[in-house]
Amino acid sequence: MIKKIKDFLGVDIKNDKYALVDDEIFGKVAKSKKPDKWIRSTCGYCGVGCGLYIGVKDGQPVYTKGDPAHPVSKGTLCPKGLSEHEMVRANNRLTTPLVRKDGHLAPVEWDEAFKKASEAFKDVAQKHGKEAVACISTGQLLTEEFYTLGKFVQLGLGSNNYDGNTTLCMSSAVMGYKQSFGSDGPPGCYEDFSHADVIMLIGANIADNHPILKLHIAKNKKTTGKKPTIIVVDPRHSKTANMADIFVPLKPRTDLALINGLCHIIWEQGWADESFMREKASGYKAFVKHIQNYPPQEVANITGIEVKVLYELARIYAGADKAMSAWTMGVNQSALGTDTVSAICNMALMTGNLGREGASPFSITGQCNAMGTRESGFTSSIPGYRNFASSHDREEYASIVGVPTEIVPDKRGYAYPQIIEGIEKGEIKALWVVATNPLVSYPDQPRLRAALKKLDMLVVQDAFMSDTAQLADVIFAAATWSEKDGTYTNSERRCNLAKKAVEPIGKSKSDFHIVVEFSRYFDGAYELLFEGWEDPRDAFAEWQKVSKGQLCDYSGMSYEKIETLGGIQWPCNAENPDGTPRLYHDTMECTTEDGKPKFICADWEPMAENICEGFPLVLNSGRTVEQFHTRTKTGEIAILDNLAPEAWIELNPKDAEKLQVKSGERMGISSPRGRIDDLVVKVTEGVREGNIFVPFHYNTELINTLTQSLFDPKSFEPNFKQTAVQVHSEKVPEGIVFPQTEIVGELSHDKVTEEVSGVKVEEKVAKS
Ligand code: SF4
Repeated sequence: MIKKIKDFLGVDIKNDKYALVDDEIFGKVAKSKKPDKWIRSTCGYCGVGCGLYIGVKDGQPVYTKGDPAHPVSKGTLCPKGLSEHEMVRANNRLTTPLVRKDGHLAPVEWDEAFKKASEAFKDVAQKHGKEAVACISTGQLLTEEFYTLGKFVQLGLGSNNYDGNTTLCMSSAVMGYKQSFGSDGPPGCYEDFSHADVIMLIGANIADNHPILKLHIAKNKKTTGKKPTIIVVDPRHSKTANMADIFVPLKPRTDLALINGLCHIIWEQGWADESFMREKASGYKAFVKHIQNYPPQEVANITGIEVKVLYELARIYAGADKAMSAWTMGVNQSALGTDTVSAICNMALMTGNLGREGASPFSITGQCNAMGTRESGFTSSIPGYRNFASSHDREEYASIVGVPTEIVPDKRGYAYPQIIEGIEKGEIKALWVVATNPLVSYPDQPRLRAALKKLDMLVVQDAFMSDTAQLADVIFAAATWSEKDGTYTNSERRCNLAKKAVEPIGKSKSDFHIVVEFSRYFDGAYELLFEGWEDPRDAFAEWQKVSKGQLCDYSGMSYEKIETLGGIQWPCNAENPDGTPRLYHDTMECTTEDGKPKFICADWEPMAENICEGFPLVLNSGRTVEQFHTRTKTGEIAILDNLAPEAWIELNPKDAEKLQVKSGERMGISSPRGRIDDLVVKVTEGVREGNIFVPFHYNTELINTLTQSLFDPKSFEPNFKQTAVQVHSEKVPEGIVFPQTEIVGELSHDKVTEEVSGVKVEEKVAKS
């Protein structure tokens, strides 16, 4: 890979590390391409939020280079960032609005596309109610666009069935934070990686998914004078495990039991910070009683991690002056995701690792602006983390934006899986999909595809001809990164400026302009919501007013200040004019009733899907550094796609021996929901015996054909990571039996859940 990147750049790369390309090298490359100008901006792929410059030549993006002054990335970029300019003019860009005519998508003018979509939305609302129109958005838009879209869907269309693909990756972190701290909001920051004595990465393959974060870990020794102890907890020996001092290869989906067990040992051994537990947090007595249910031997049986290793882990974590625990999808994408997030927060609380430099629980987001969508309102909150159920919150929001309080929804809407279930039931008849591609990313594809056929109208707004766009009745052609202005907020609450460098391709428009112009097709909506709005600055100005005084306070920011400082971490206001690196430090209360973080008593449960003779292997899905999400953005970039052009199966050598297959041969996989074929085999010790791994990005080897309709009952996040499967090869000997995994039992999702904000949720989670 390094060689290919070198070939691509045409230069040598220092230190044999692709992520450490410096400005001098880019200077040489830039010379050959001779951009007319460089525009300072932010990467539009993942939630790390790297700063970069876009090289523009003759009005086209021709180069991307790291911004040496940016505090997140300090001049570095990963392969996706380095080739981002190629995405802007990729072959699969949508350059004009399209409307389906006689079964085919035909180019039209914007007026025709807006008329067709608006008439269908109005017709559905009139016949079936406003909530029969739903919207699923993304973590890819700019905050100004999220704010504008949410305002229009909820107050203009009058539907609260508005969620995003962020429910597929980050909603468990959101709900876990709400349970533990009263509000969403990652407490720590990247700088903490440079200060911690112990870094525990749980279900987080940062080497593939957030590679630039390694810079902050690499800085640690220089900052602290000693190397931190890095603990990697993951069923799979990912590239990140290579960084570990201690690798903890636990059984799939046993992380909650592991954390509870470590808490048990920390308490038992007197290693807890008892005064912090008593004085700074609430619920400690019940919590101490709760963790007695997780004695070390039982936890060892559940997790597959030896008792002596559990004691060692607990000793190292609790013994650190500063311990940081960070996680991503391995934790979130689970039917127990919310509670596992709270368990990680529990462990931080019982050791006093909160609100201090280098000492924090910390979620790492997947998409460039997953934070923006969480903050600016969606199915479970009014913009600014306000509560639908609170009349105070509704009145306050209505008064700030100048609308009647009655039009602000008083209850949460459907989450993403509930929207799909609503389509299945015939409750939802029209769907507006914005910058996401459920036809690859959503679990249980056979069920999803059957549901989408029931829609009266599917509108897809995207910059790319995605798999989902190909099914649409109407397509709104959107501008993408570098073609529009606004802000992204990264995993550490840092609001970065993403600037327009070139004009949108063809007739495409920014998502901001699409929504504002579309609103004119609904009587009075534009006048009520967007009168006088001309560009994203208007949305940002209102967002600043709406967020003022809330935890996610943007009121002290301006575009100019954000650029000068290289991003600003919220809350940013009169008291913290340059932003706030960490939440919940000594002078800052949580948004819980007593102002204290809470201990949450959360129980582990076994995997829902039985591993049996017919489906004896556990399928884990995940990502690879070369591709992004469903490849709409990266599938046409040769340098990336050539490195990872197709999905593969990682298979343990013992399983490969039983199956008599070798690396490079091809196999199929099936689950109770379907089958995919012709995946290339990679035999590796990286996966446990009885487990396989397949990356999820590919529509050609669609792994979500196999995954389950199983969701966390609090966050509605899908349980992507553990699916019972069988593998198929001509060489499989008759009657082969794999080792049985002892995981049994079923989770019932047919239950009413208590939403952590205190609102009763009457709807049931989609049943498997
Ligand atoms: Fe972009 Fe993420 Fe890569 Fe940074 S790490 S360059 S934000 S994809």
